[in-house]
Amino acid sequence: MINMSSPIRVTVWSEYRHEKNNPKVTGIYPEGIHGAIAGFLGKQADITVRTATLDEPDHGLGGSVLDETDVLVWWGHMAHGEVSDEIVAKAKTRVLEGMGLIALHSSHKAKIFTSLMGTSGSLKWRMSTDKERLWNLMPSHPITQGIGEYFEIANEEMYGEPFGIPTPDELLFISWFTGGEVFRSGATWNRGSGRIFYFRPGHETLPTYHQAEVQTVITNAVRWAHTGVRTEADVCPKSEPLEPLPEA
Ligand code: ZN
Repeated sequence: MINMSSPIRVTVWSEYRHEKNNPKVTGIYPEGIHGAIAGFLGKQADITVRTATLDEPDHGLGGSVLDETDVLVWWGHMAHGEVSDEIVAKAKTRVLEGMGLIALHSSHKAKIFTSLMGTSGSLKWRMSTDKERLWNLMPSHPITQGIGEYFEIANEEMYGEPFGIPTPDELLFISWFTGGEVFRSGATWNRGSGRIFYFRPGHETLPTYHQAEVQTVITNAVRWAHTGVRTEADVCPKSEPLEPLPEA
């Protein structure tokens, strides 16, 4: 058991490609999307944060990084295919052992997310001038604390149903878009001992991760996803009886 009073060790992973290639994205996220997310998480007294990016050796997740991570936050988009299967397998094992995973926005197609879901992660999308209204379906849930009945993002990319995910354990947000679509935009699953949260907002050309409600949801999700346990990911031990068995 991990001492729950010790800080939650968060690794914020991002592809960090759009920020290098698109001046508009650089302007919004000069320290990268991972830098923006690490920035607001790092202000919390109960959270310690590090970052990792695709182009670092082992995508920044080699050595003991995953062993020392309680919650992994993931943002990927244009280079899902460049993430090594070996690193994905390691991260998946850590989730099954009890590490939390928060998959953001276009990470609906990230290997780590689809491999844990077992489904396509496919959806409809449109980059336009939609407003997004996120309805809070579970006001009692730890992840929705501080969020009212709904909140709005002035401009976001539209994601529409059907969304290729298994039925969530808990559905926390449904989004409505100006164009008329709806989307399951905040959902949780358990896989092994790990907790997973998918949260939809966060298109790279928009300042979504600077918005207070979005930061609140992600911060709450980090605390929720921290199980404080580490179990074996895959053991099938032969078991001796606890009580004497009757003679055959
Ligand atoms: Zn996007």
